[in-house]
Amino acid sequence: MDSANMTDGFHVVIDALKLNGMDTIYGLAGIPITDLLRLAAAEGIRYIGFRHEQSAANAAAIAGYLTQKPGICFTVSGPGFLNGMVAMANATTNCFPMILISGSSDRAIIDLEQGDYEELDQMNAAKPYAKAAFRVNRPQDIGVGLARAIHAAVSGRPGGVYLDLTAECLASVLDAGAAKKSLIKVVDPAPSQIPSPESVHRALDLLAAAHNPLIILGKGAAYAQADVQIRELVETTGIPYLPMSMAKGLLPDNHPQSAAAARSYAIGQADVVMLVGARLNWLLSHGKAPLWSETTQFIQLDISPTEIDSNRSIAAPVVGDIRSSVQAFLDELQSRSITPSAEWLEGIAQRKDKNIAKMAERLAADPQPMNFSSALRAVRDALSDRPDVYVVNEGANTLDFGRNVIDMYEPRKRLDSGTWGIMGIGMGYAIGAAVESGKPVVAIEGDSAFGFSGMEIETICRYQLPVAIVVFNNGGIYRGDPAGTQPSPTGFVPNARYDKLIEAFGGEGHHVEDTKTLTRVLTDAIESGRPTLINVAIDPTAGTESGHIQNLNPKSALQK
Ligand code: ADP
Ligand code: MG
Repeated sequence: MDSANMTDGFHVVIDALKLNGMDTIYGLAGIPITDLLRLAAAEGIRYIGFRHEQSAANAAAIAGYLTQKPGICFTVSGPGFLNGMVAMANATTNCFPMILISGSSDRAIIDLEQGDYEELDQMNAAKPYAKAAFRVNRPQDIGVGLARAIHAAVSGRPGGVYLDLTAECLASVLDAGAAKKSLIKVVDPAPSQIPSPESVHRALDLLAAAHNPLIILGKGAAYAQADVQIRELVETTGIPYLPMSMAKGLLPDNHPQSAAAARSYAIGQADVVMLVGARLNWLLSHGKAPLWSETTQFIQLDISPTEIDSNRSIAAPVVGDIRSSVQAFLDELQSRSITPSAEWLEGIAQRKDKNIAKMAERLAADPQPMNFSSALRAVRDALSDRPDVYVVNEGANTLDFGRNVIDMYEPRKRLDSGTWGIMGIGMGYAIGAAVESGKPVVAIEGDSAFGFSGMEIETICRYQLPVAIVVFNNGGIYRGDPAGTQPSPTGFVPNARYDKLIEAFGGEGHHVEDTKTLTRVLTDAIESGRPTLINVAIDPTAGTESGHIQNLNPKSALQK
């Protein structure tokens, strides 16, 4: 073979990615992938380099959620891989498609535990946390490896996939013609999954007999990009609906059929609940008392057959992809009608009015220093004319209040802590959303939550991304320590100036102590698209321990 006709593993990886339309890589350079990343950039793939692998993998995960194409993250071996794995596990838990690709050290040494540089059996470490994990040992198998990873990530219930590339495989040389032939262009990796007609009939019979029907939209429904069909289903049936947090905006939050402001009443009184891409996990109290009634019957639209009956009995499972399933309902509804009872709609409307009035009162208060409600109202005012802005939200109180105060008007614009209630997704999601969409992003962050990925403000400044970070700074986890005391397990430096951090990288820093300034500064930041961090001084006594989920926090019975 003459060397002009030779190629190597690095080039085959790039060719395989390009052939499958993977135009962006999130990652962090180092042994053994540095040359691969340089090559990718030279070959026209957009490369976004991070300061920690967890954020890179979070960016890839949210890219997958937003585009239905698996987000790609590259890391180095061993600890770099492990850093990325937290985000891959989170992607799997949230049903986001992504592929974590890591270089790995010498297998012969790893398998005998002889102590290689960054030694770790990465593929097997990944398996419990990934939807699938593969290792490629030979360059001629790279095409197959990537094809399998793509299919696994986006088919059925999406998830995180791990692809292990050994350093040896990357550096191996092979014939260019053979390499080209070994590539696979994936065809239809997420095919429609049509629900059975009987399952749709069964569900419609149940809905037709209901007095108090309720639709719950989850982020699986948002992911499915069936926005028009879902809206039509809600509007033609007249059934009240509740959005789970990342499904906010699938229909605009001010939609008259939204029962969000009457959530516990709606859940407690519904006789038939139709779950659309939402799981009956802890976020819905597992479908159990006291929130839920024992007599409520369930319809569940989900792509995963094994999700059904996971927490309580589902009377009418509809297994299929959401778009096909909702379309099947719409087709049937041409010839039959569903009518929620007037008392039900009236009951929800009354609760809604009452709760909305109560909330308006809380939001109208303008205490000094600011509390979570007043600061969120100021943020809401800056966002009110900009439904196109992505909102990232994490924290305890910042998340729990934020979900209720910040209304969303467009699908897939709210990105938050998700199924695990995880902290640390903030900057990764913000960067992924900005890179994929080119739209402005506002990240509403608790001061603790921000700390987990805060160093990525350098990444945001380096690429000049239109991200405005709003740090709700109450000086601690849940709340700050009383002045003059030793640091408690939940306390941070009081009156910290997070705004000064971003100035180190050339971004805009602002420190604000009142709601008017907060609205003005945030409005300007969204307008300018400049990387900005707004340090919002919140009353250190304002937070509640564990936010709205205190019931999950075990307390020592012996401690006074
Ligand atoms: P939420 O937290 O918003 O309630 P979950 O993440 O708990 O949402 O549930 C999402 C559900 O959506 C999962 O059970 C998943 O299997 C399902 N799902 C994801 N994508 C699709 C799709 N395209 N079609 C149907 N179901 C989907
Ligand atoms: Mg805090």
